Amino acid sequence: MRTTWGSATDCGPFRRLNEDALLAYPPLFVVADGMGGHDAGEVASRIAVEEAGQLAGRPEVTADDVHTIVRAISARVRAVVPDGRTVGTTFAGVGIARHEGGSYWLVFNIGDSRVYRYADAGLTQISVDHSVVQELVDRGVIGAAEALHHPDRHVITRAIGTGPDPDPDYWLIPAGAADRMLVCTDGLTDELADDEIAELLASSPDPQVAAERLVDAAVERGGRDNVTAIVVDVAASRAGDDDSTAEAHREPRGWDEAADGSTNPRQSRARVPEVDR
Ligand code: MG
Repeated sequence: MRTTWGSATDCGPFRRLNEDALLAYPPLFVVADGMGGHDAGEVASRIAVEEAGQLAGRPEVTADDVHTIVRAISARVRAVVPDGRTVGTTFAGVGIARHEGGSYWLVFNIGDSRVYRYADAGLTQISVDHSVVQELVDRGVIGAAEALHHPDRHVITRAIGTGPDPDPDYWLIPAGAADRMLVCTDGLTDELADDEIAELLASSPDPQVAAERLVDAAVERGGRDNVTAIVVDVAASRAGDDDSTAEAHREPRGWDEAADGSTNPRQSRARVPEVDR
């Protein structure tokens, strides 16, 4: 399965640091939202995307691959935590996977960054937040509308680095030929409602333009937190190939084998911490 993608991140007007980080490089599209303040949060999220980069360039990933990376992130974050500080990072994303001959999205999440699928003009949240508010919603204590403004909405119940055993959730979902995946930090979803996100995704065919418009809209709305978005599309069929559904389920090609260059990584708007390799 070939993909095209775009990404953007912005510190926002109120935060001094951008503690978000991202990696967008097939087969993995990941955001990490670090917590812990200066010399901590941005270090944790950078470690997360550095480790995720170990899988860059493979034709596909498995949940085991991602789990190995999550454990490595946890070990490194816990090793650099200053005494007495709570330091951690969310980790959410989508990978290109293969299952029984078909192309799939491997969605994974720990924390309250999110993965959505936009398909058939509808936006569906795939990941489930690990947050106090989500637990209250699940138990029927509060409704979805109340959750948006709940004072504890930023209190998360799982993260990498805050406990000995990182515990991500995984989903394996069949990839549709017209799928568009959105991976984002809570700085985006705090500012924009799902219907606003869907509208921006619908009106921006280019994934880079879509990512930038989403981030810009969240910053213009208030930008109370760092904002990061990655938009991933299944690449359009080539000319003369009229069966676009089959395209998504064909033998996946390595990212470097695409003849038309459509899978070359695009420049993100920098302000993400630099990744040293
Ligand atoms: Mg955040």
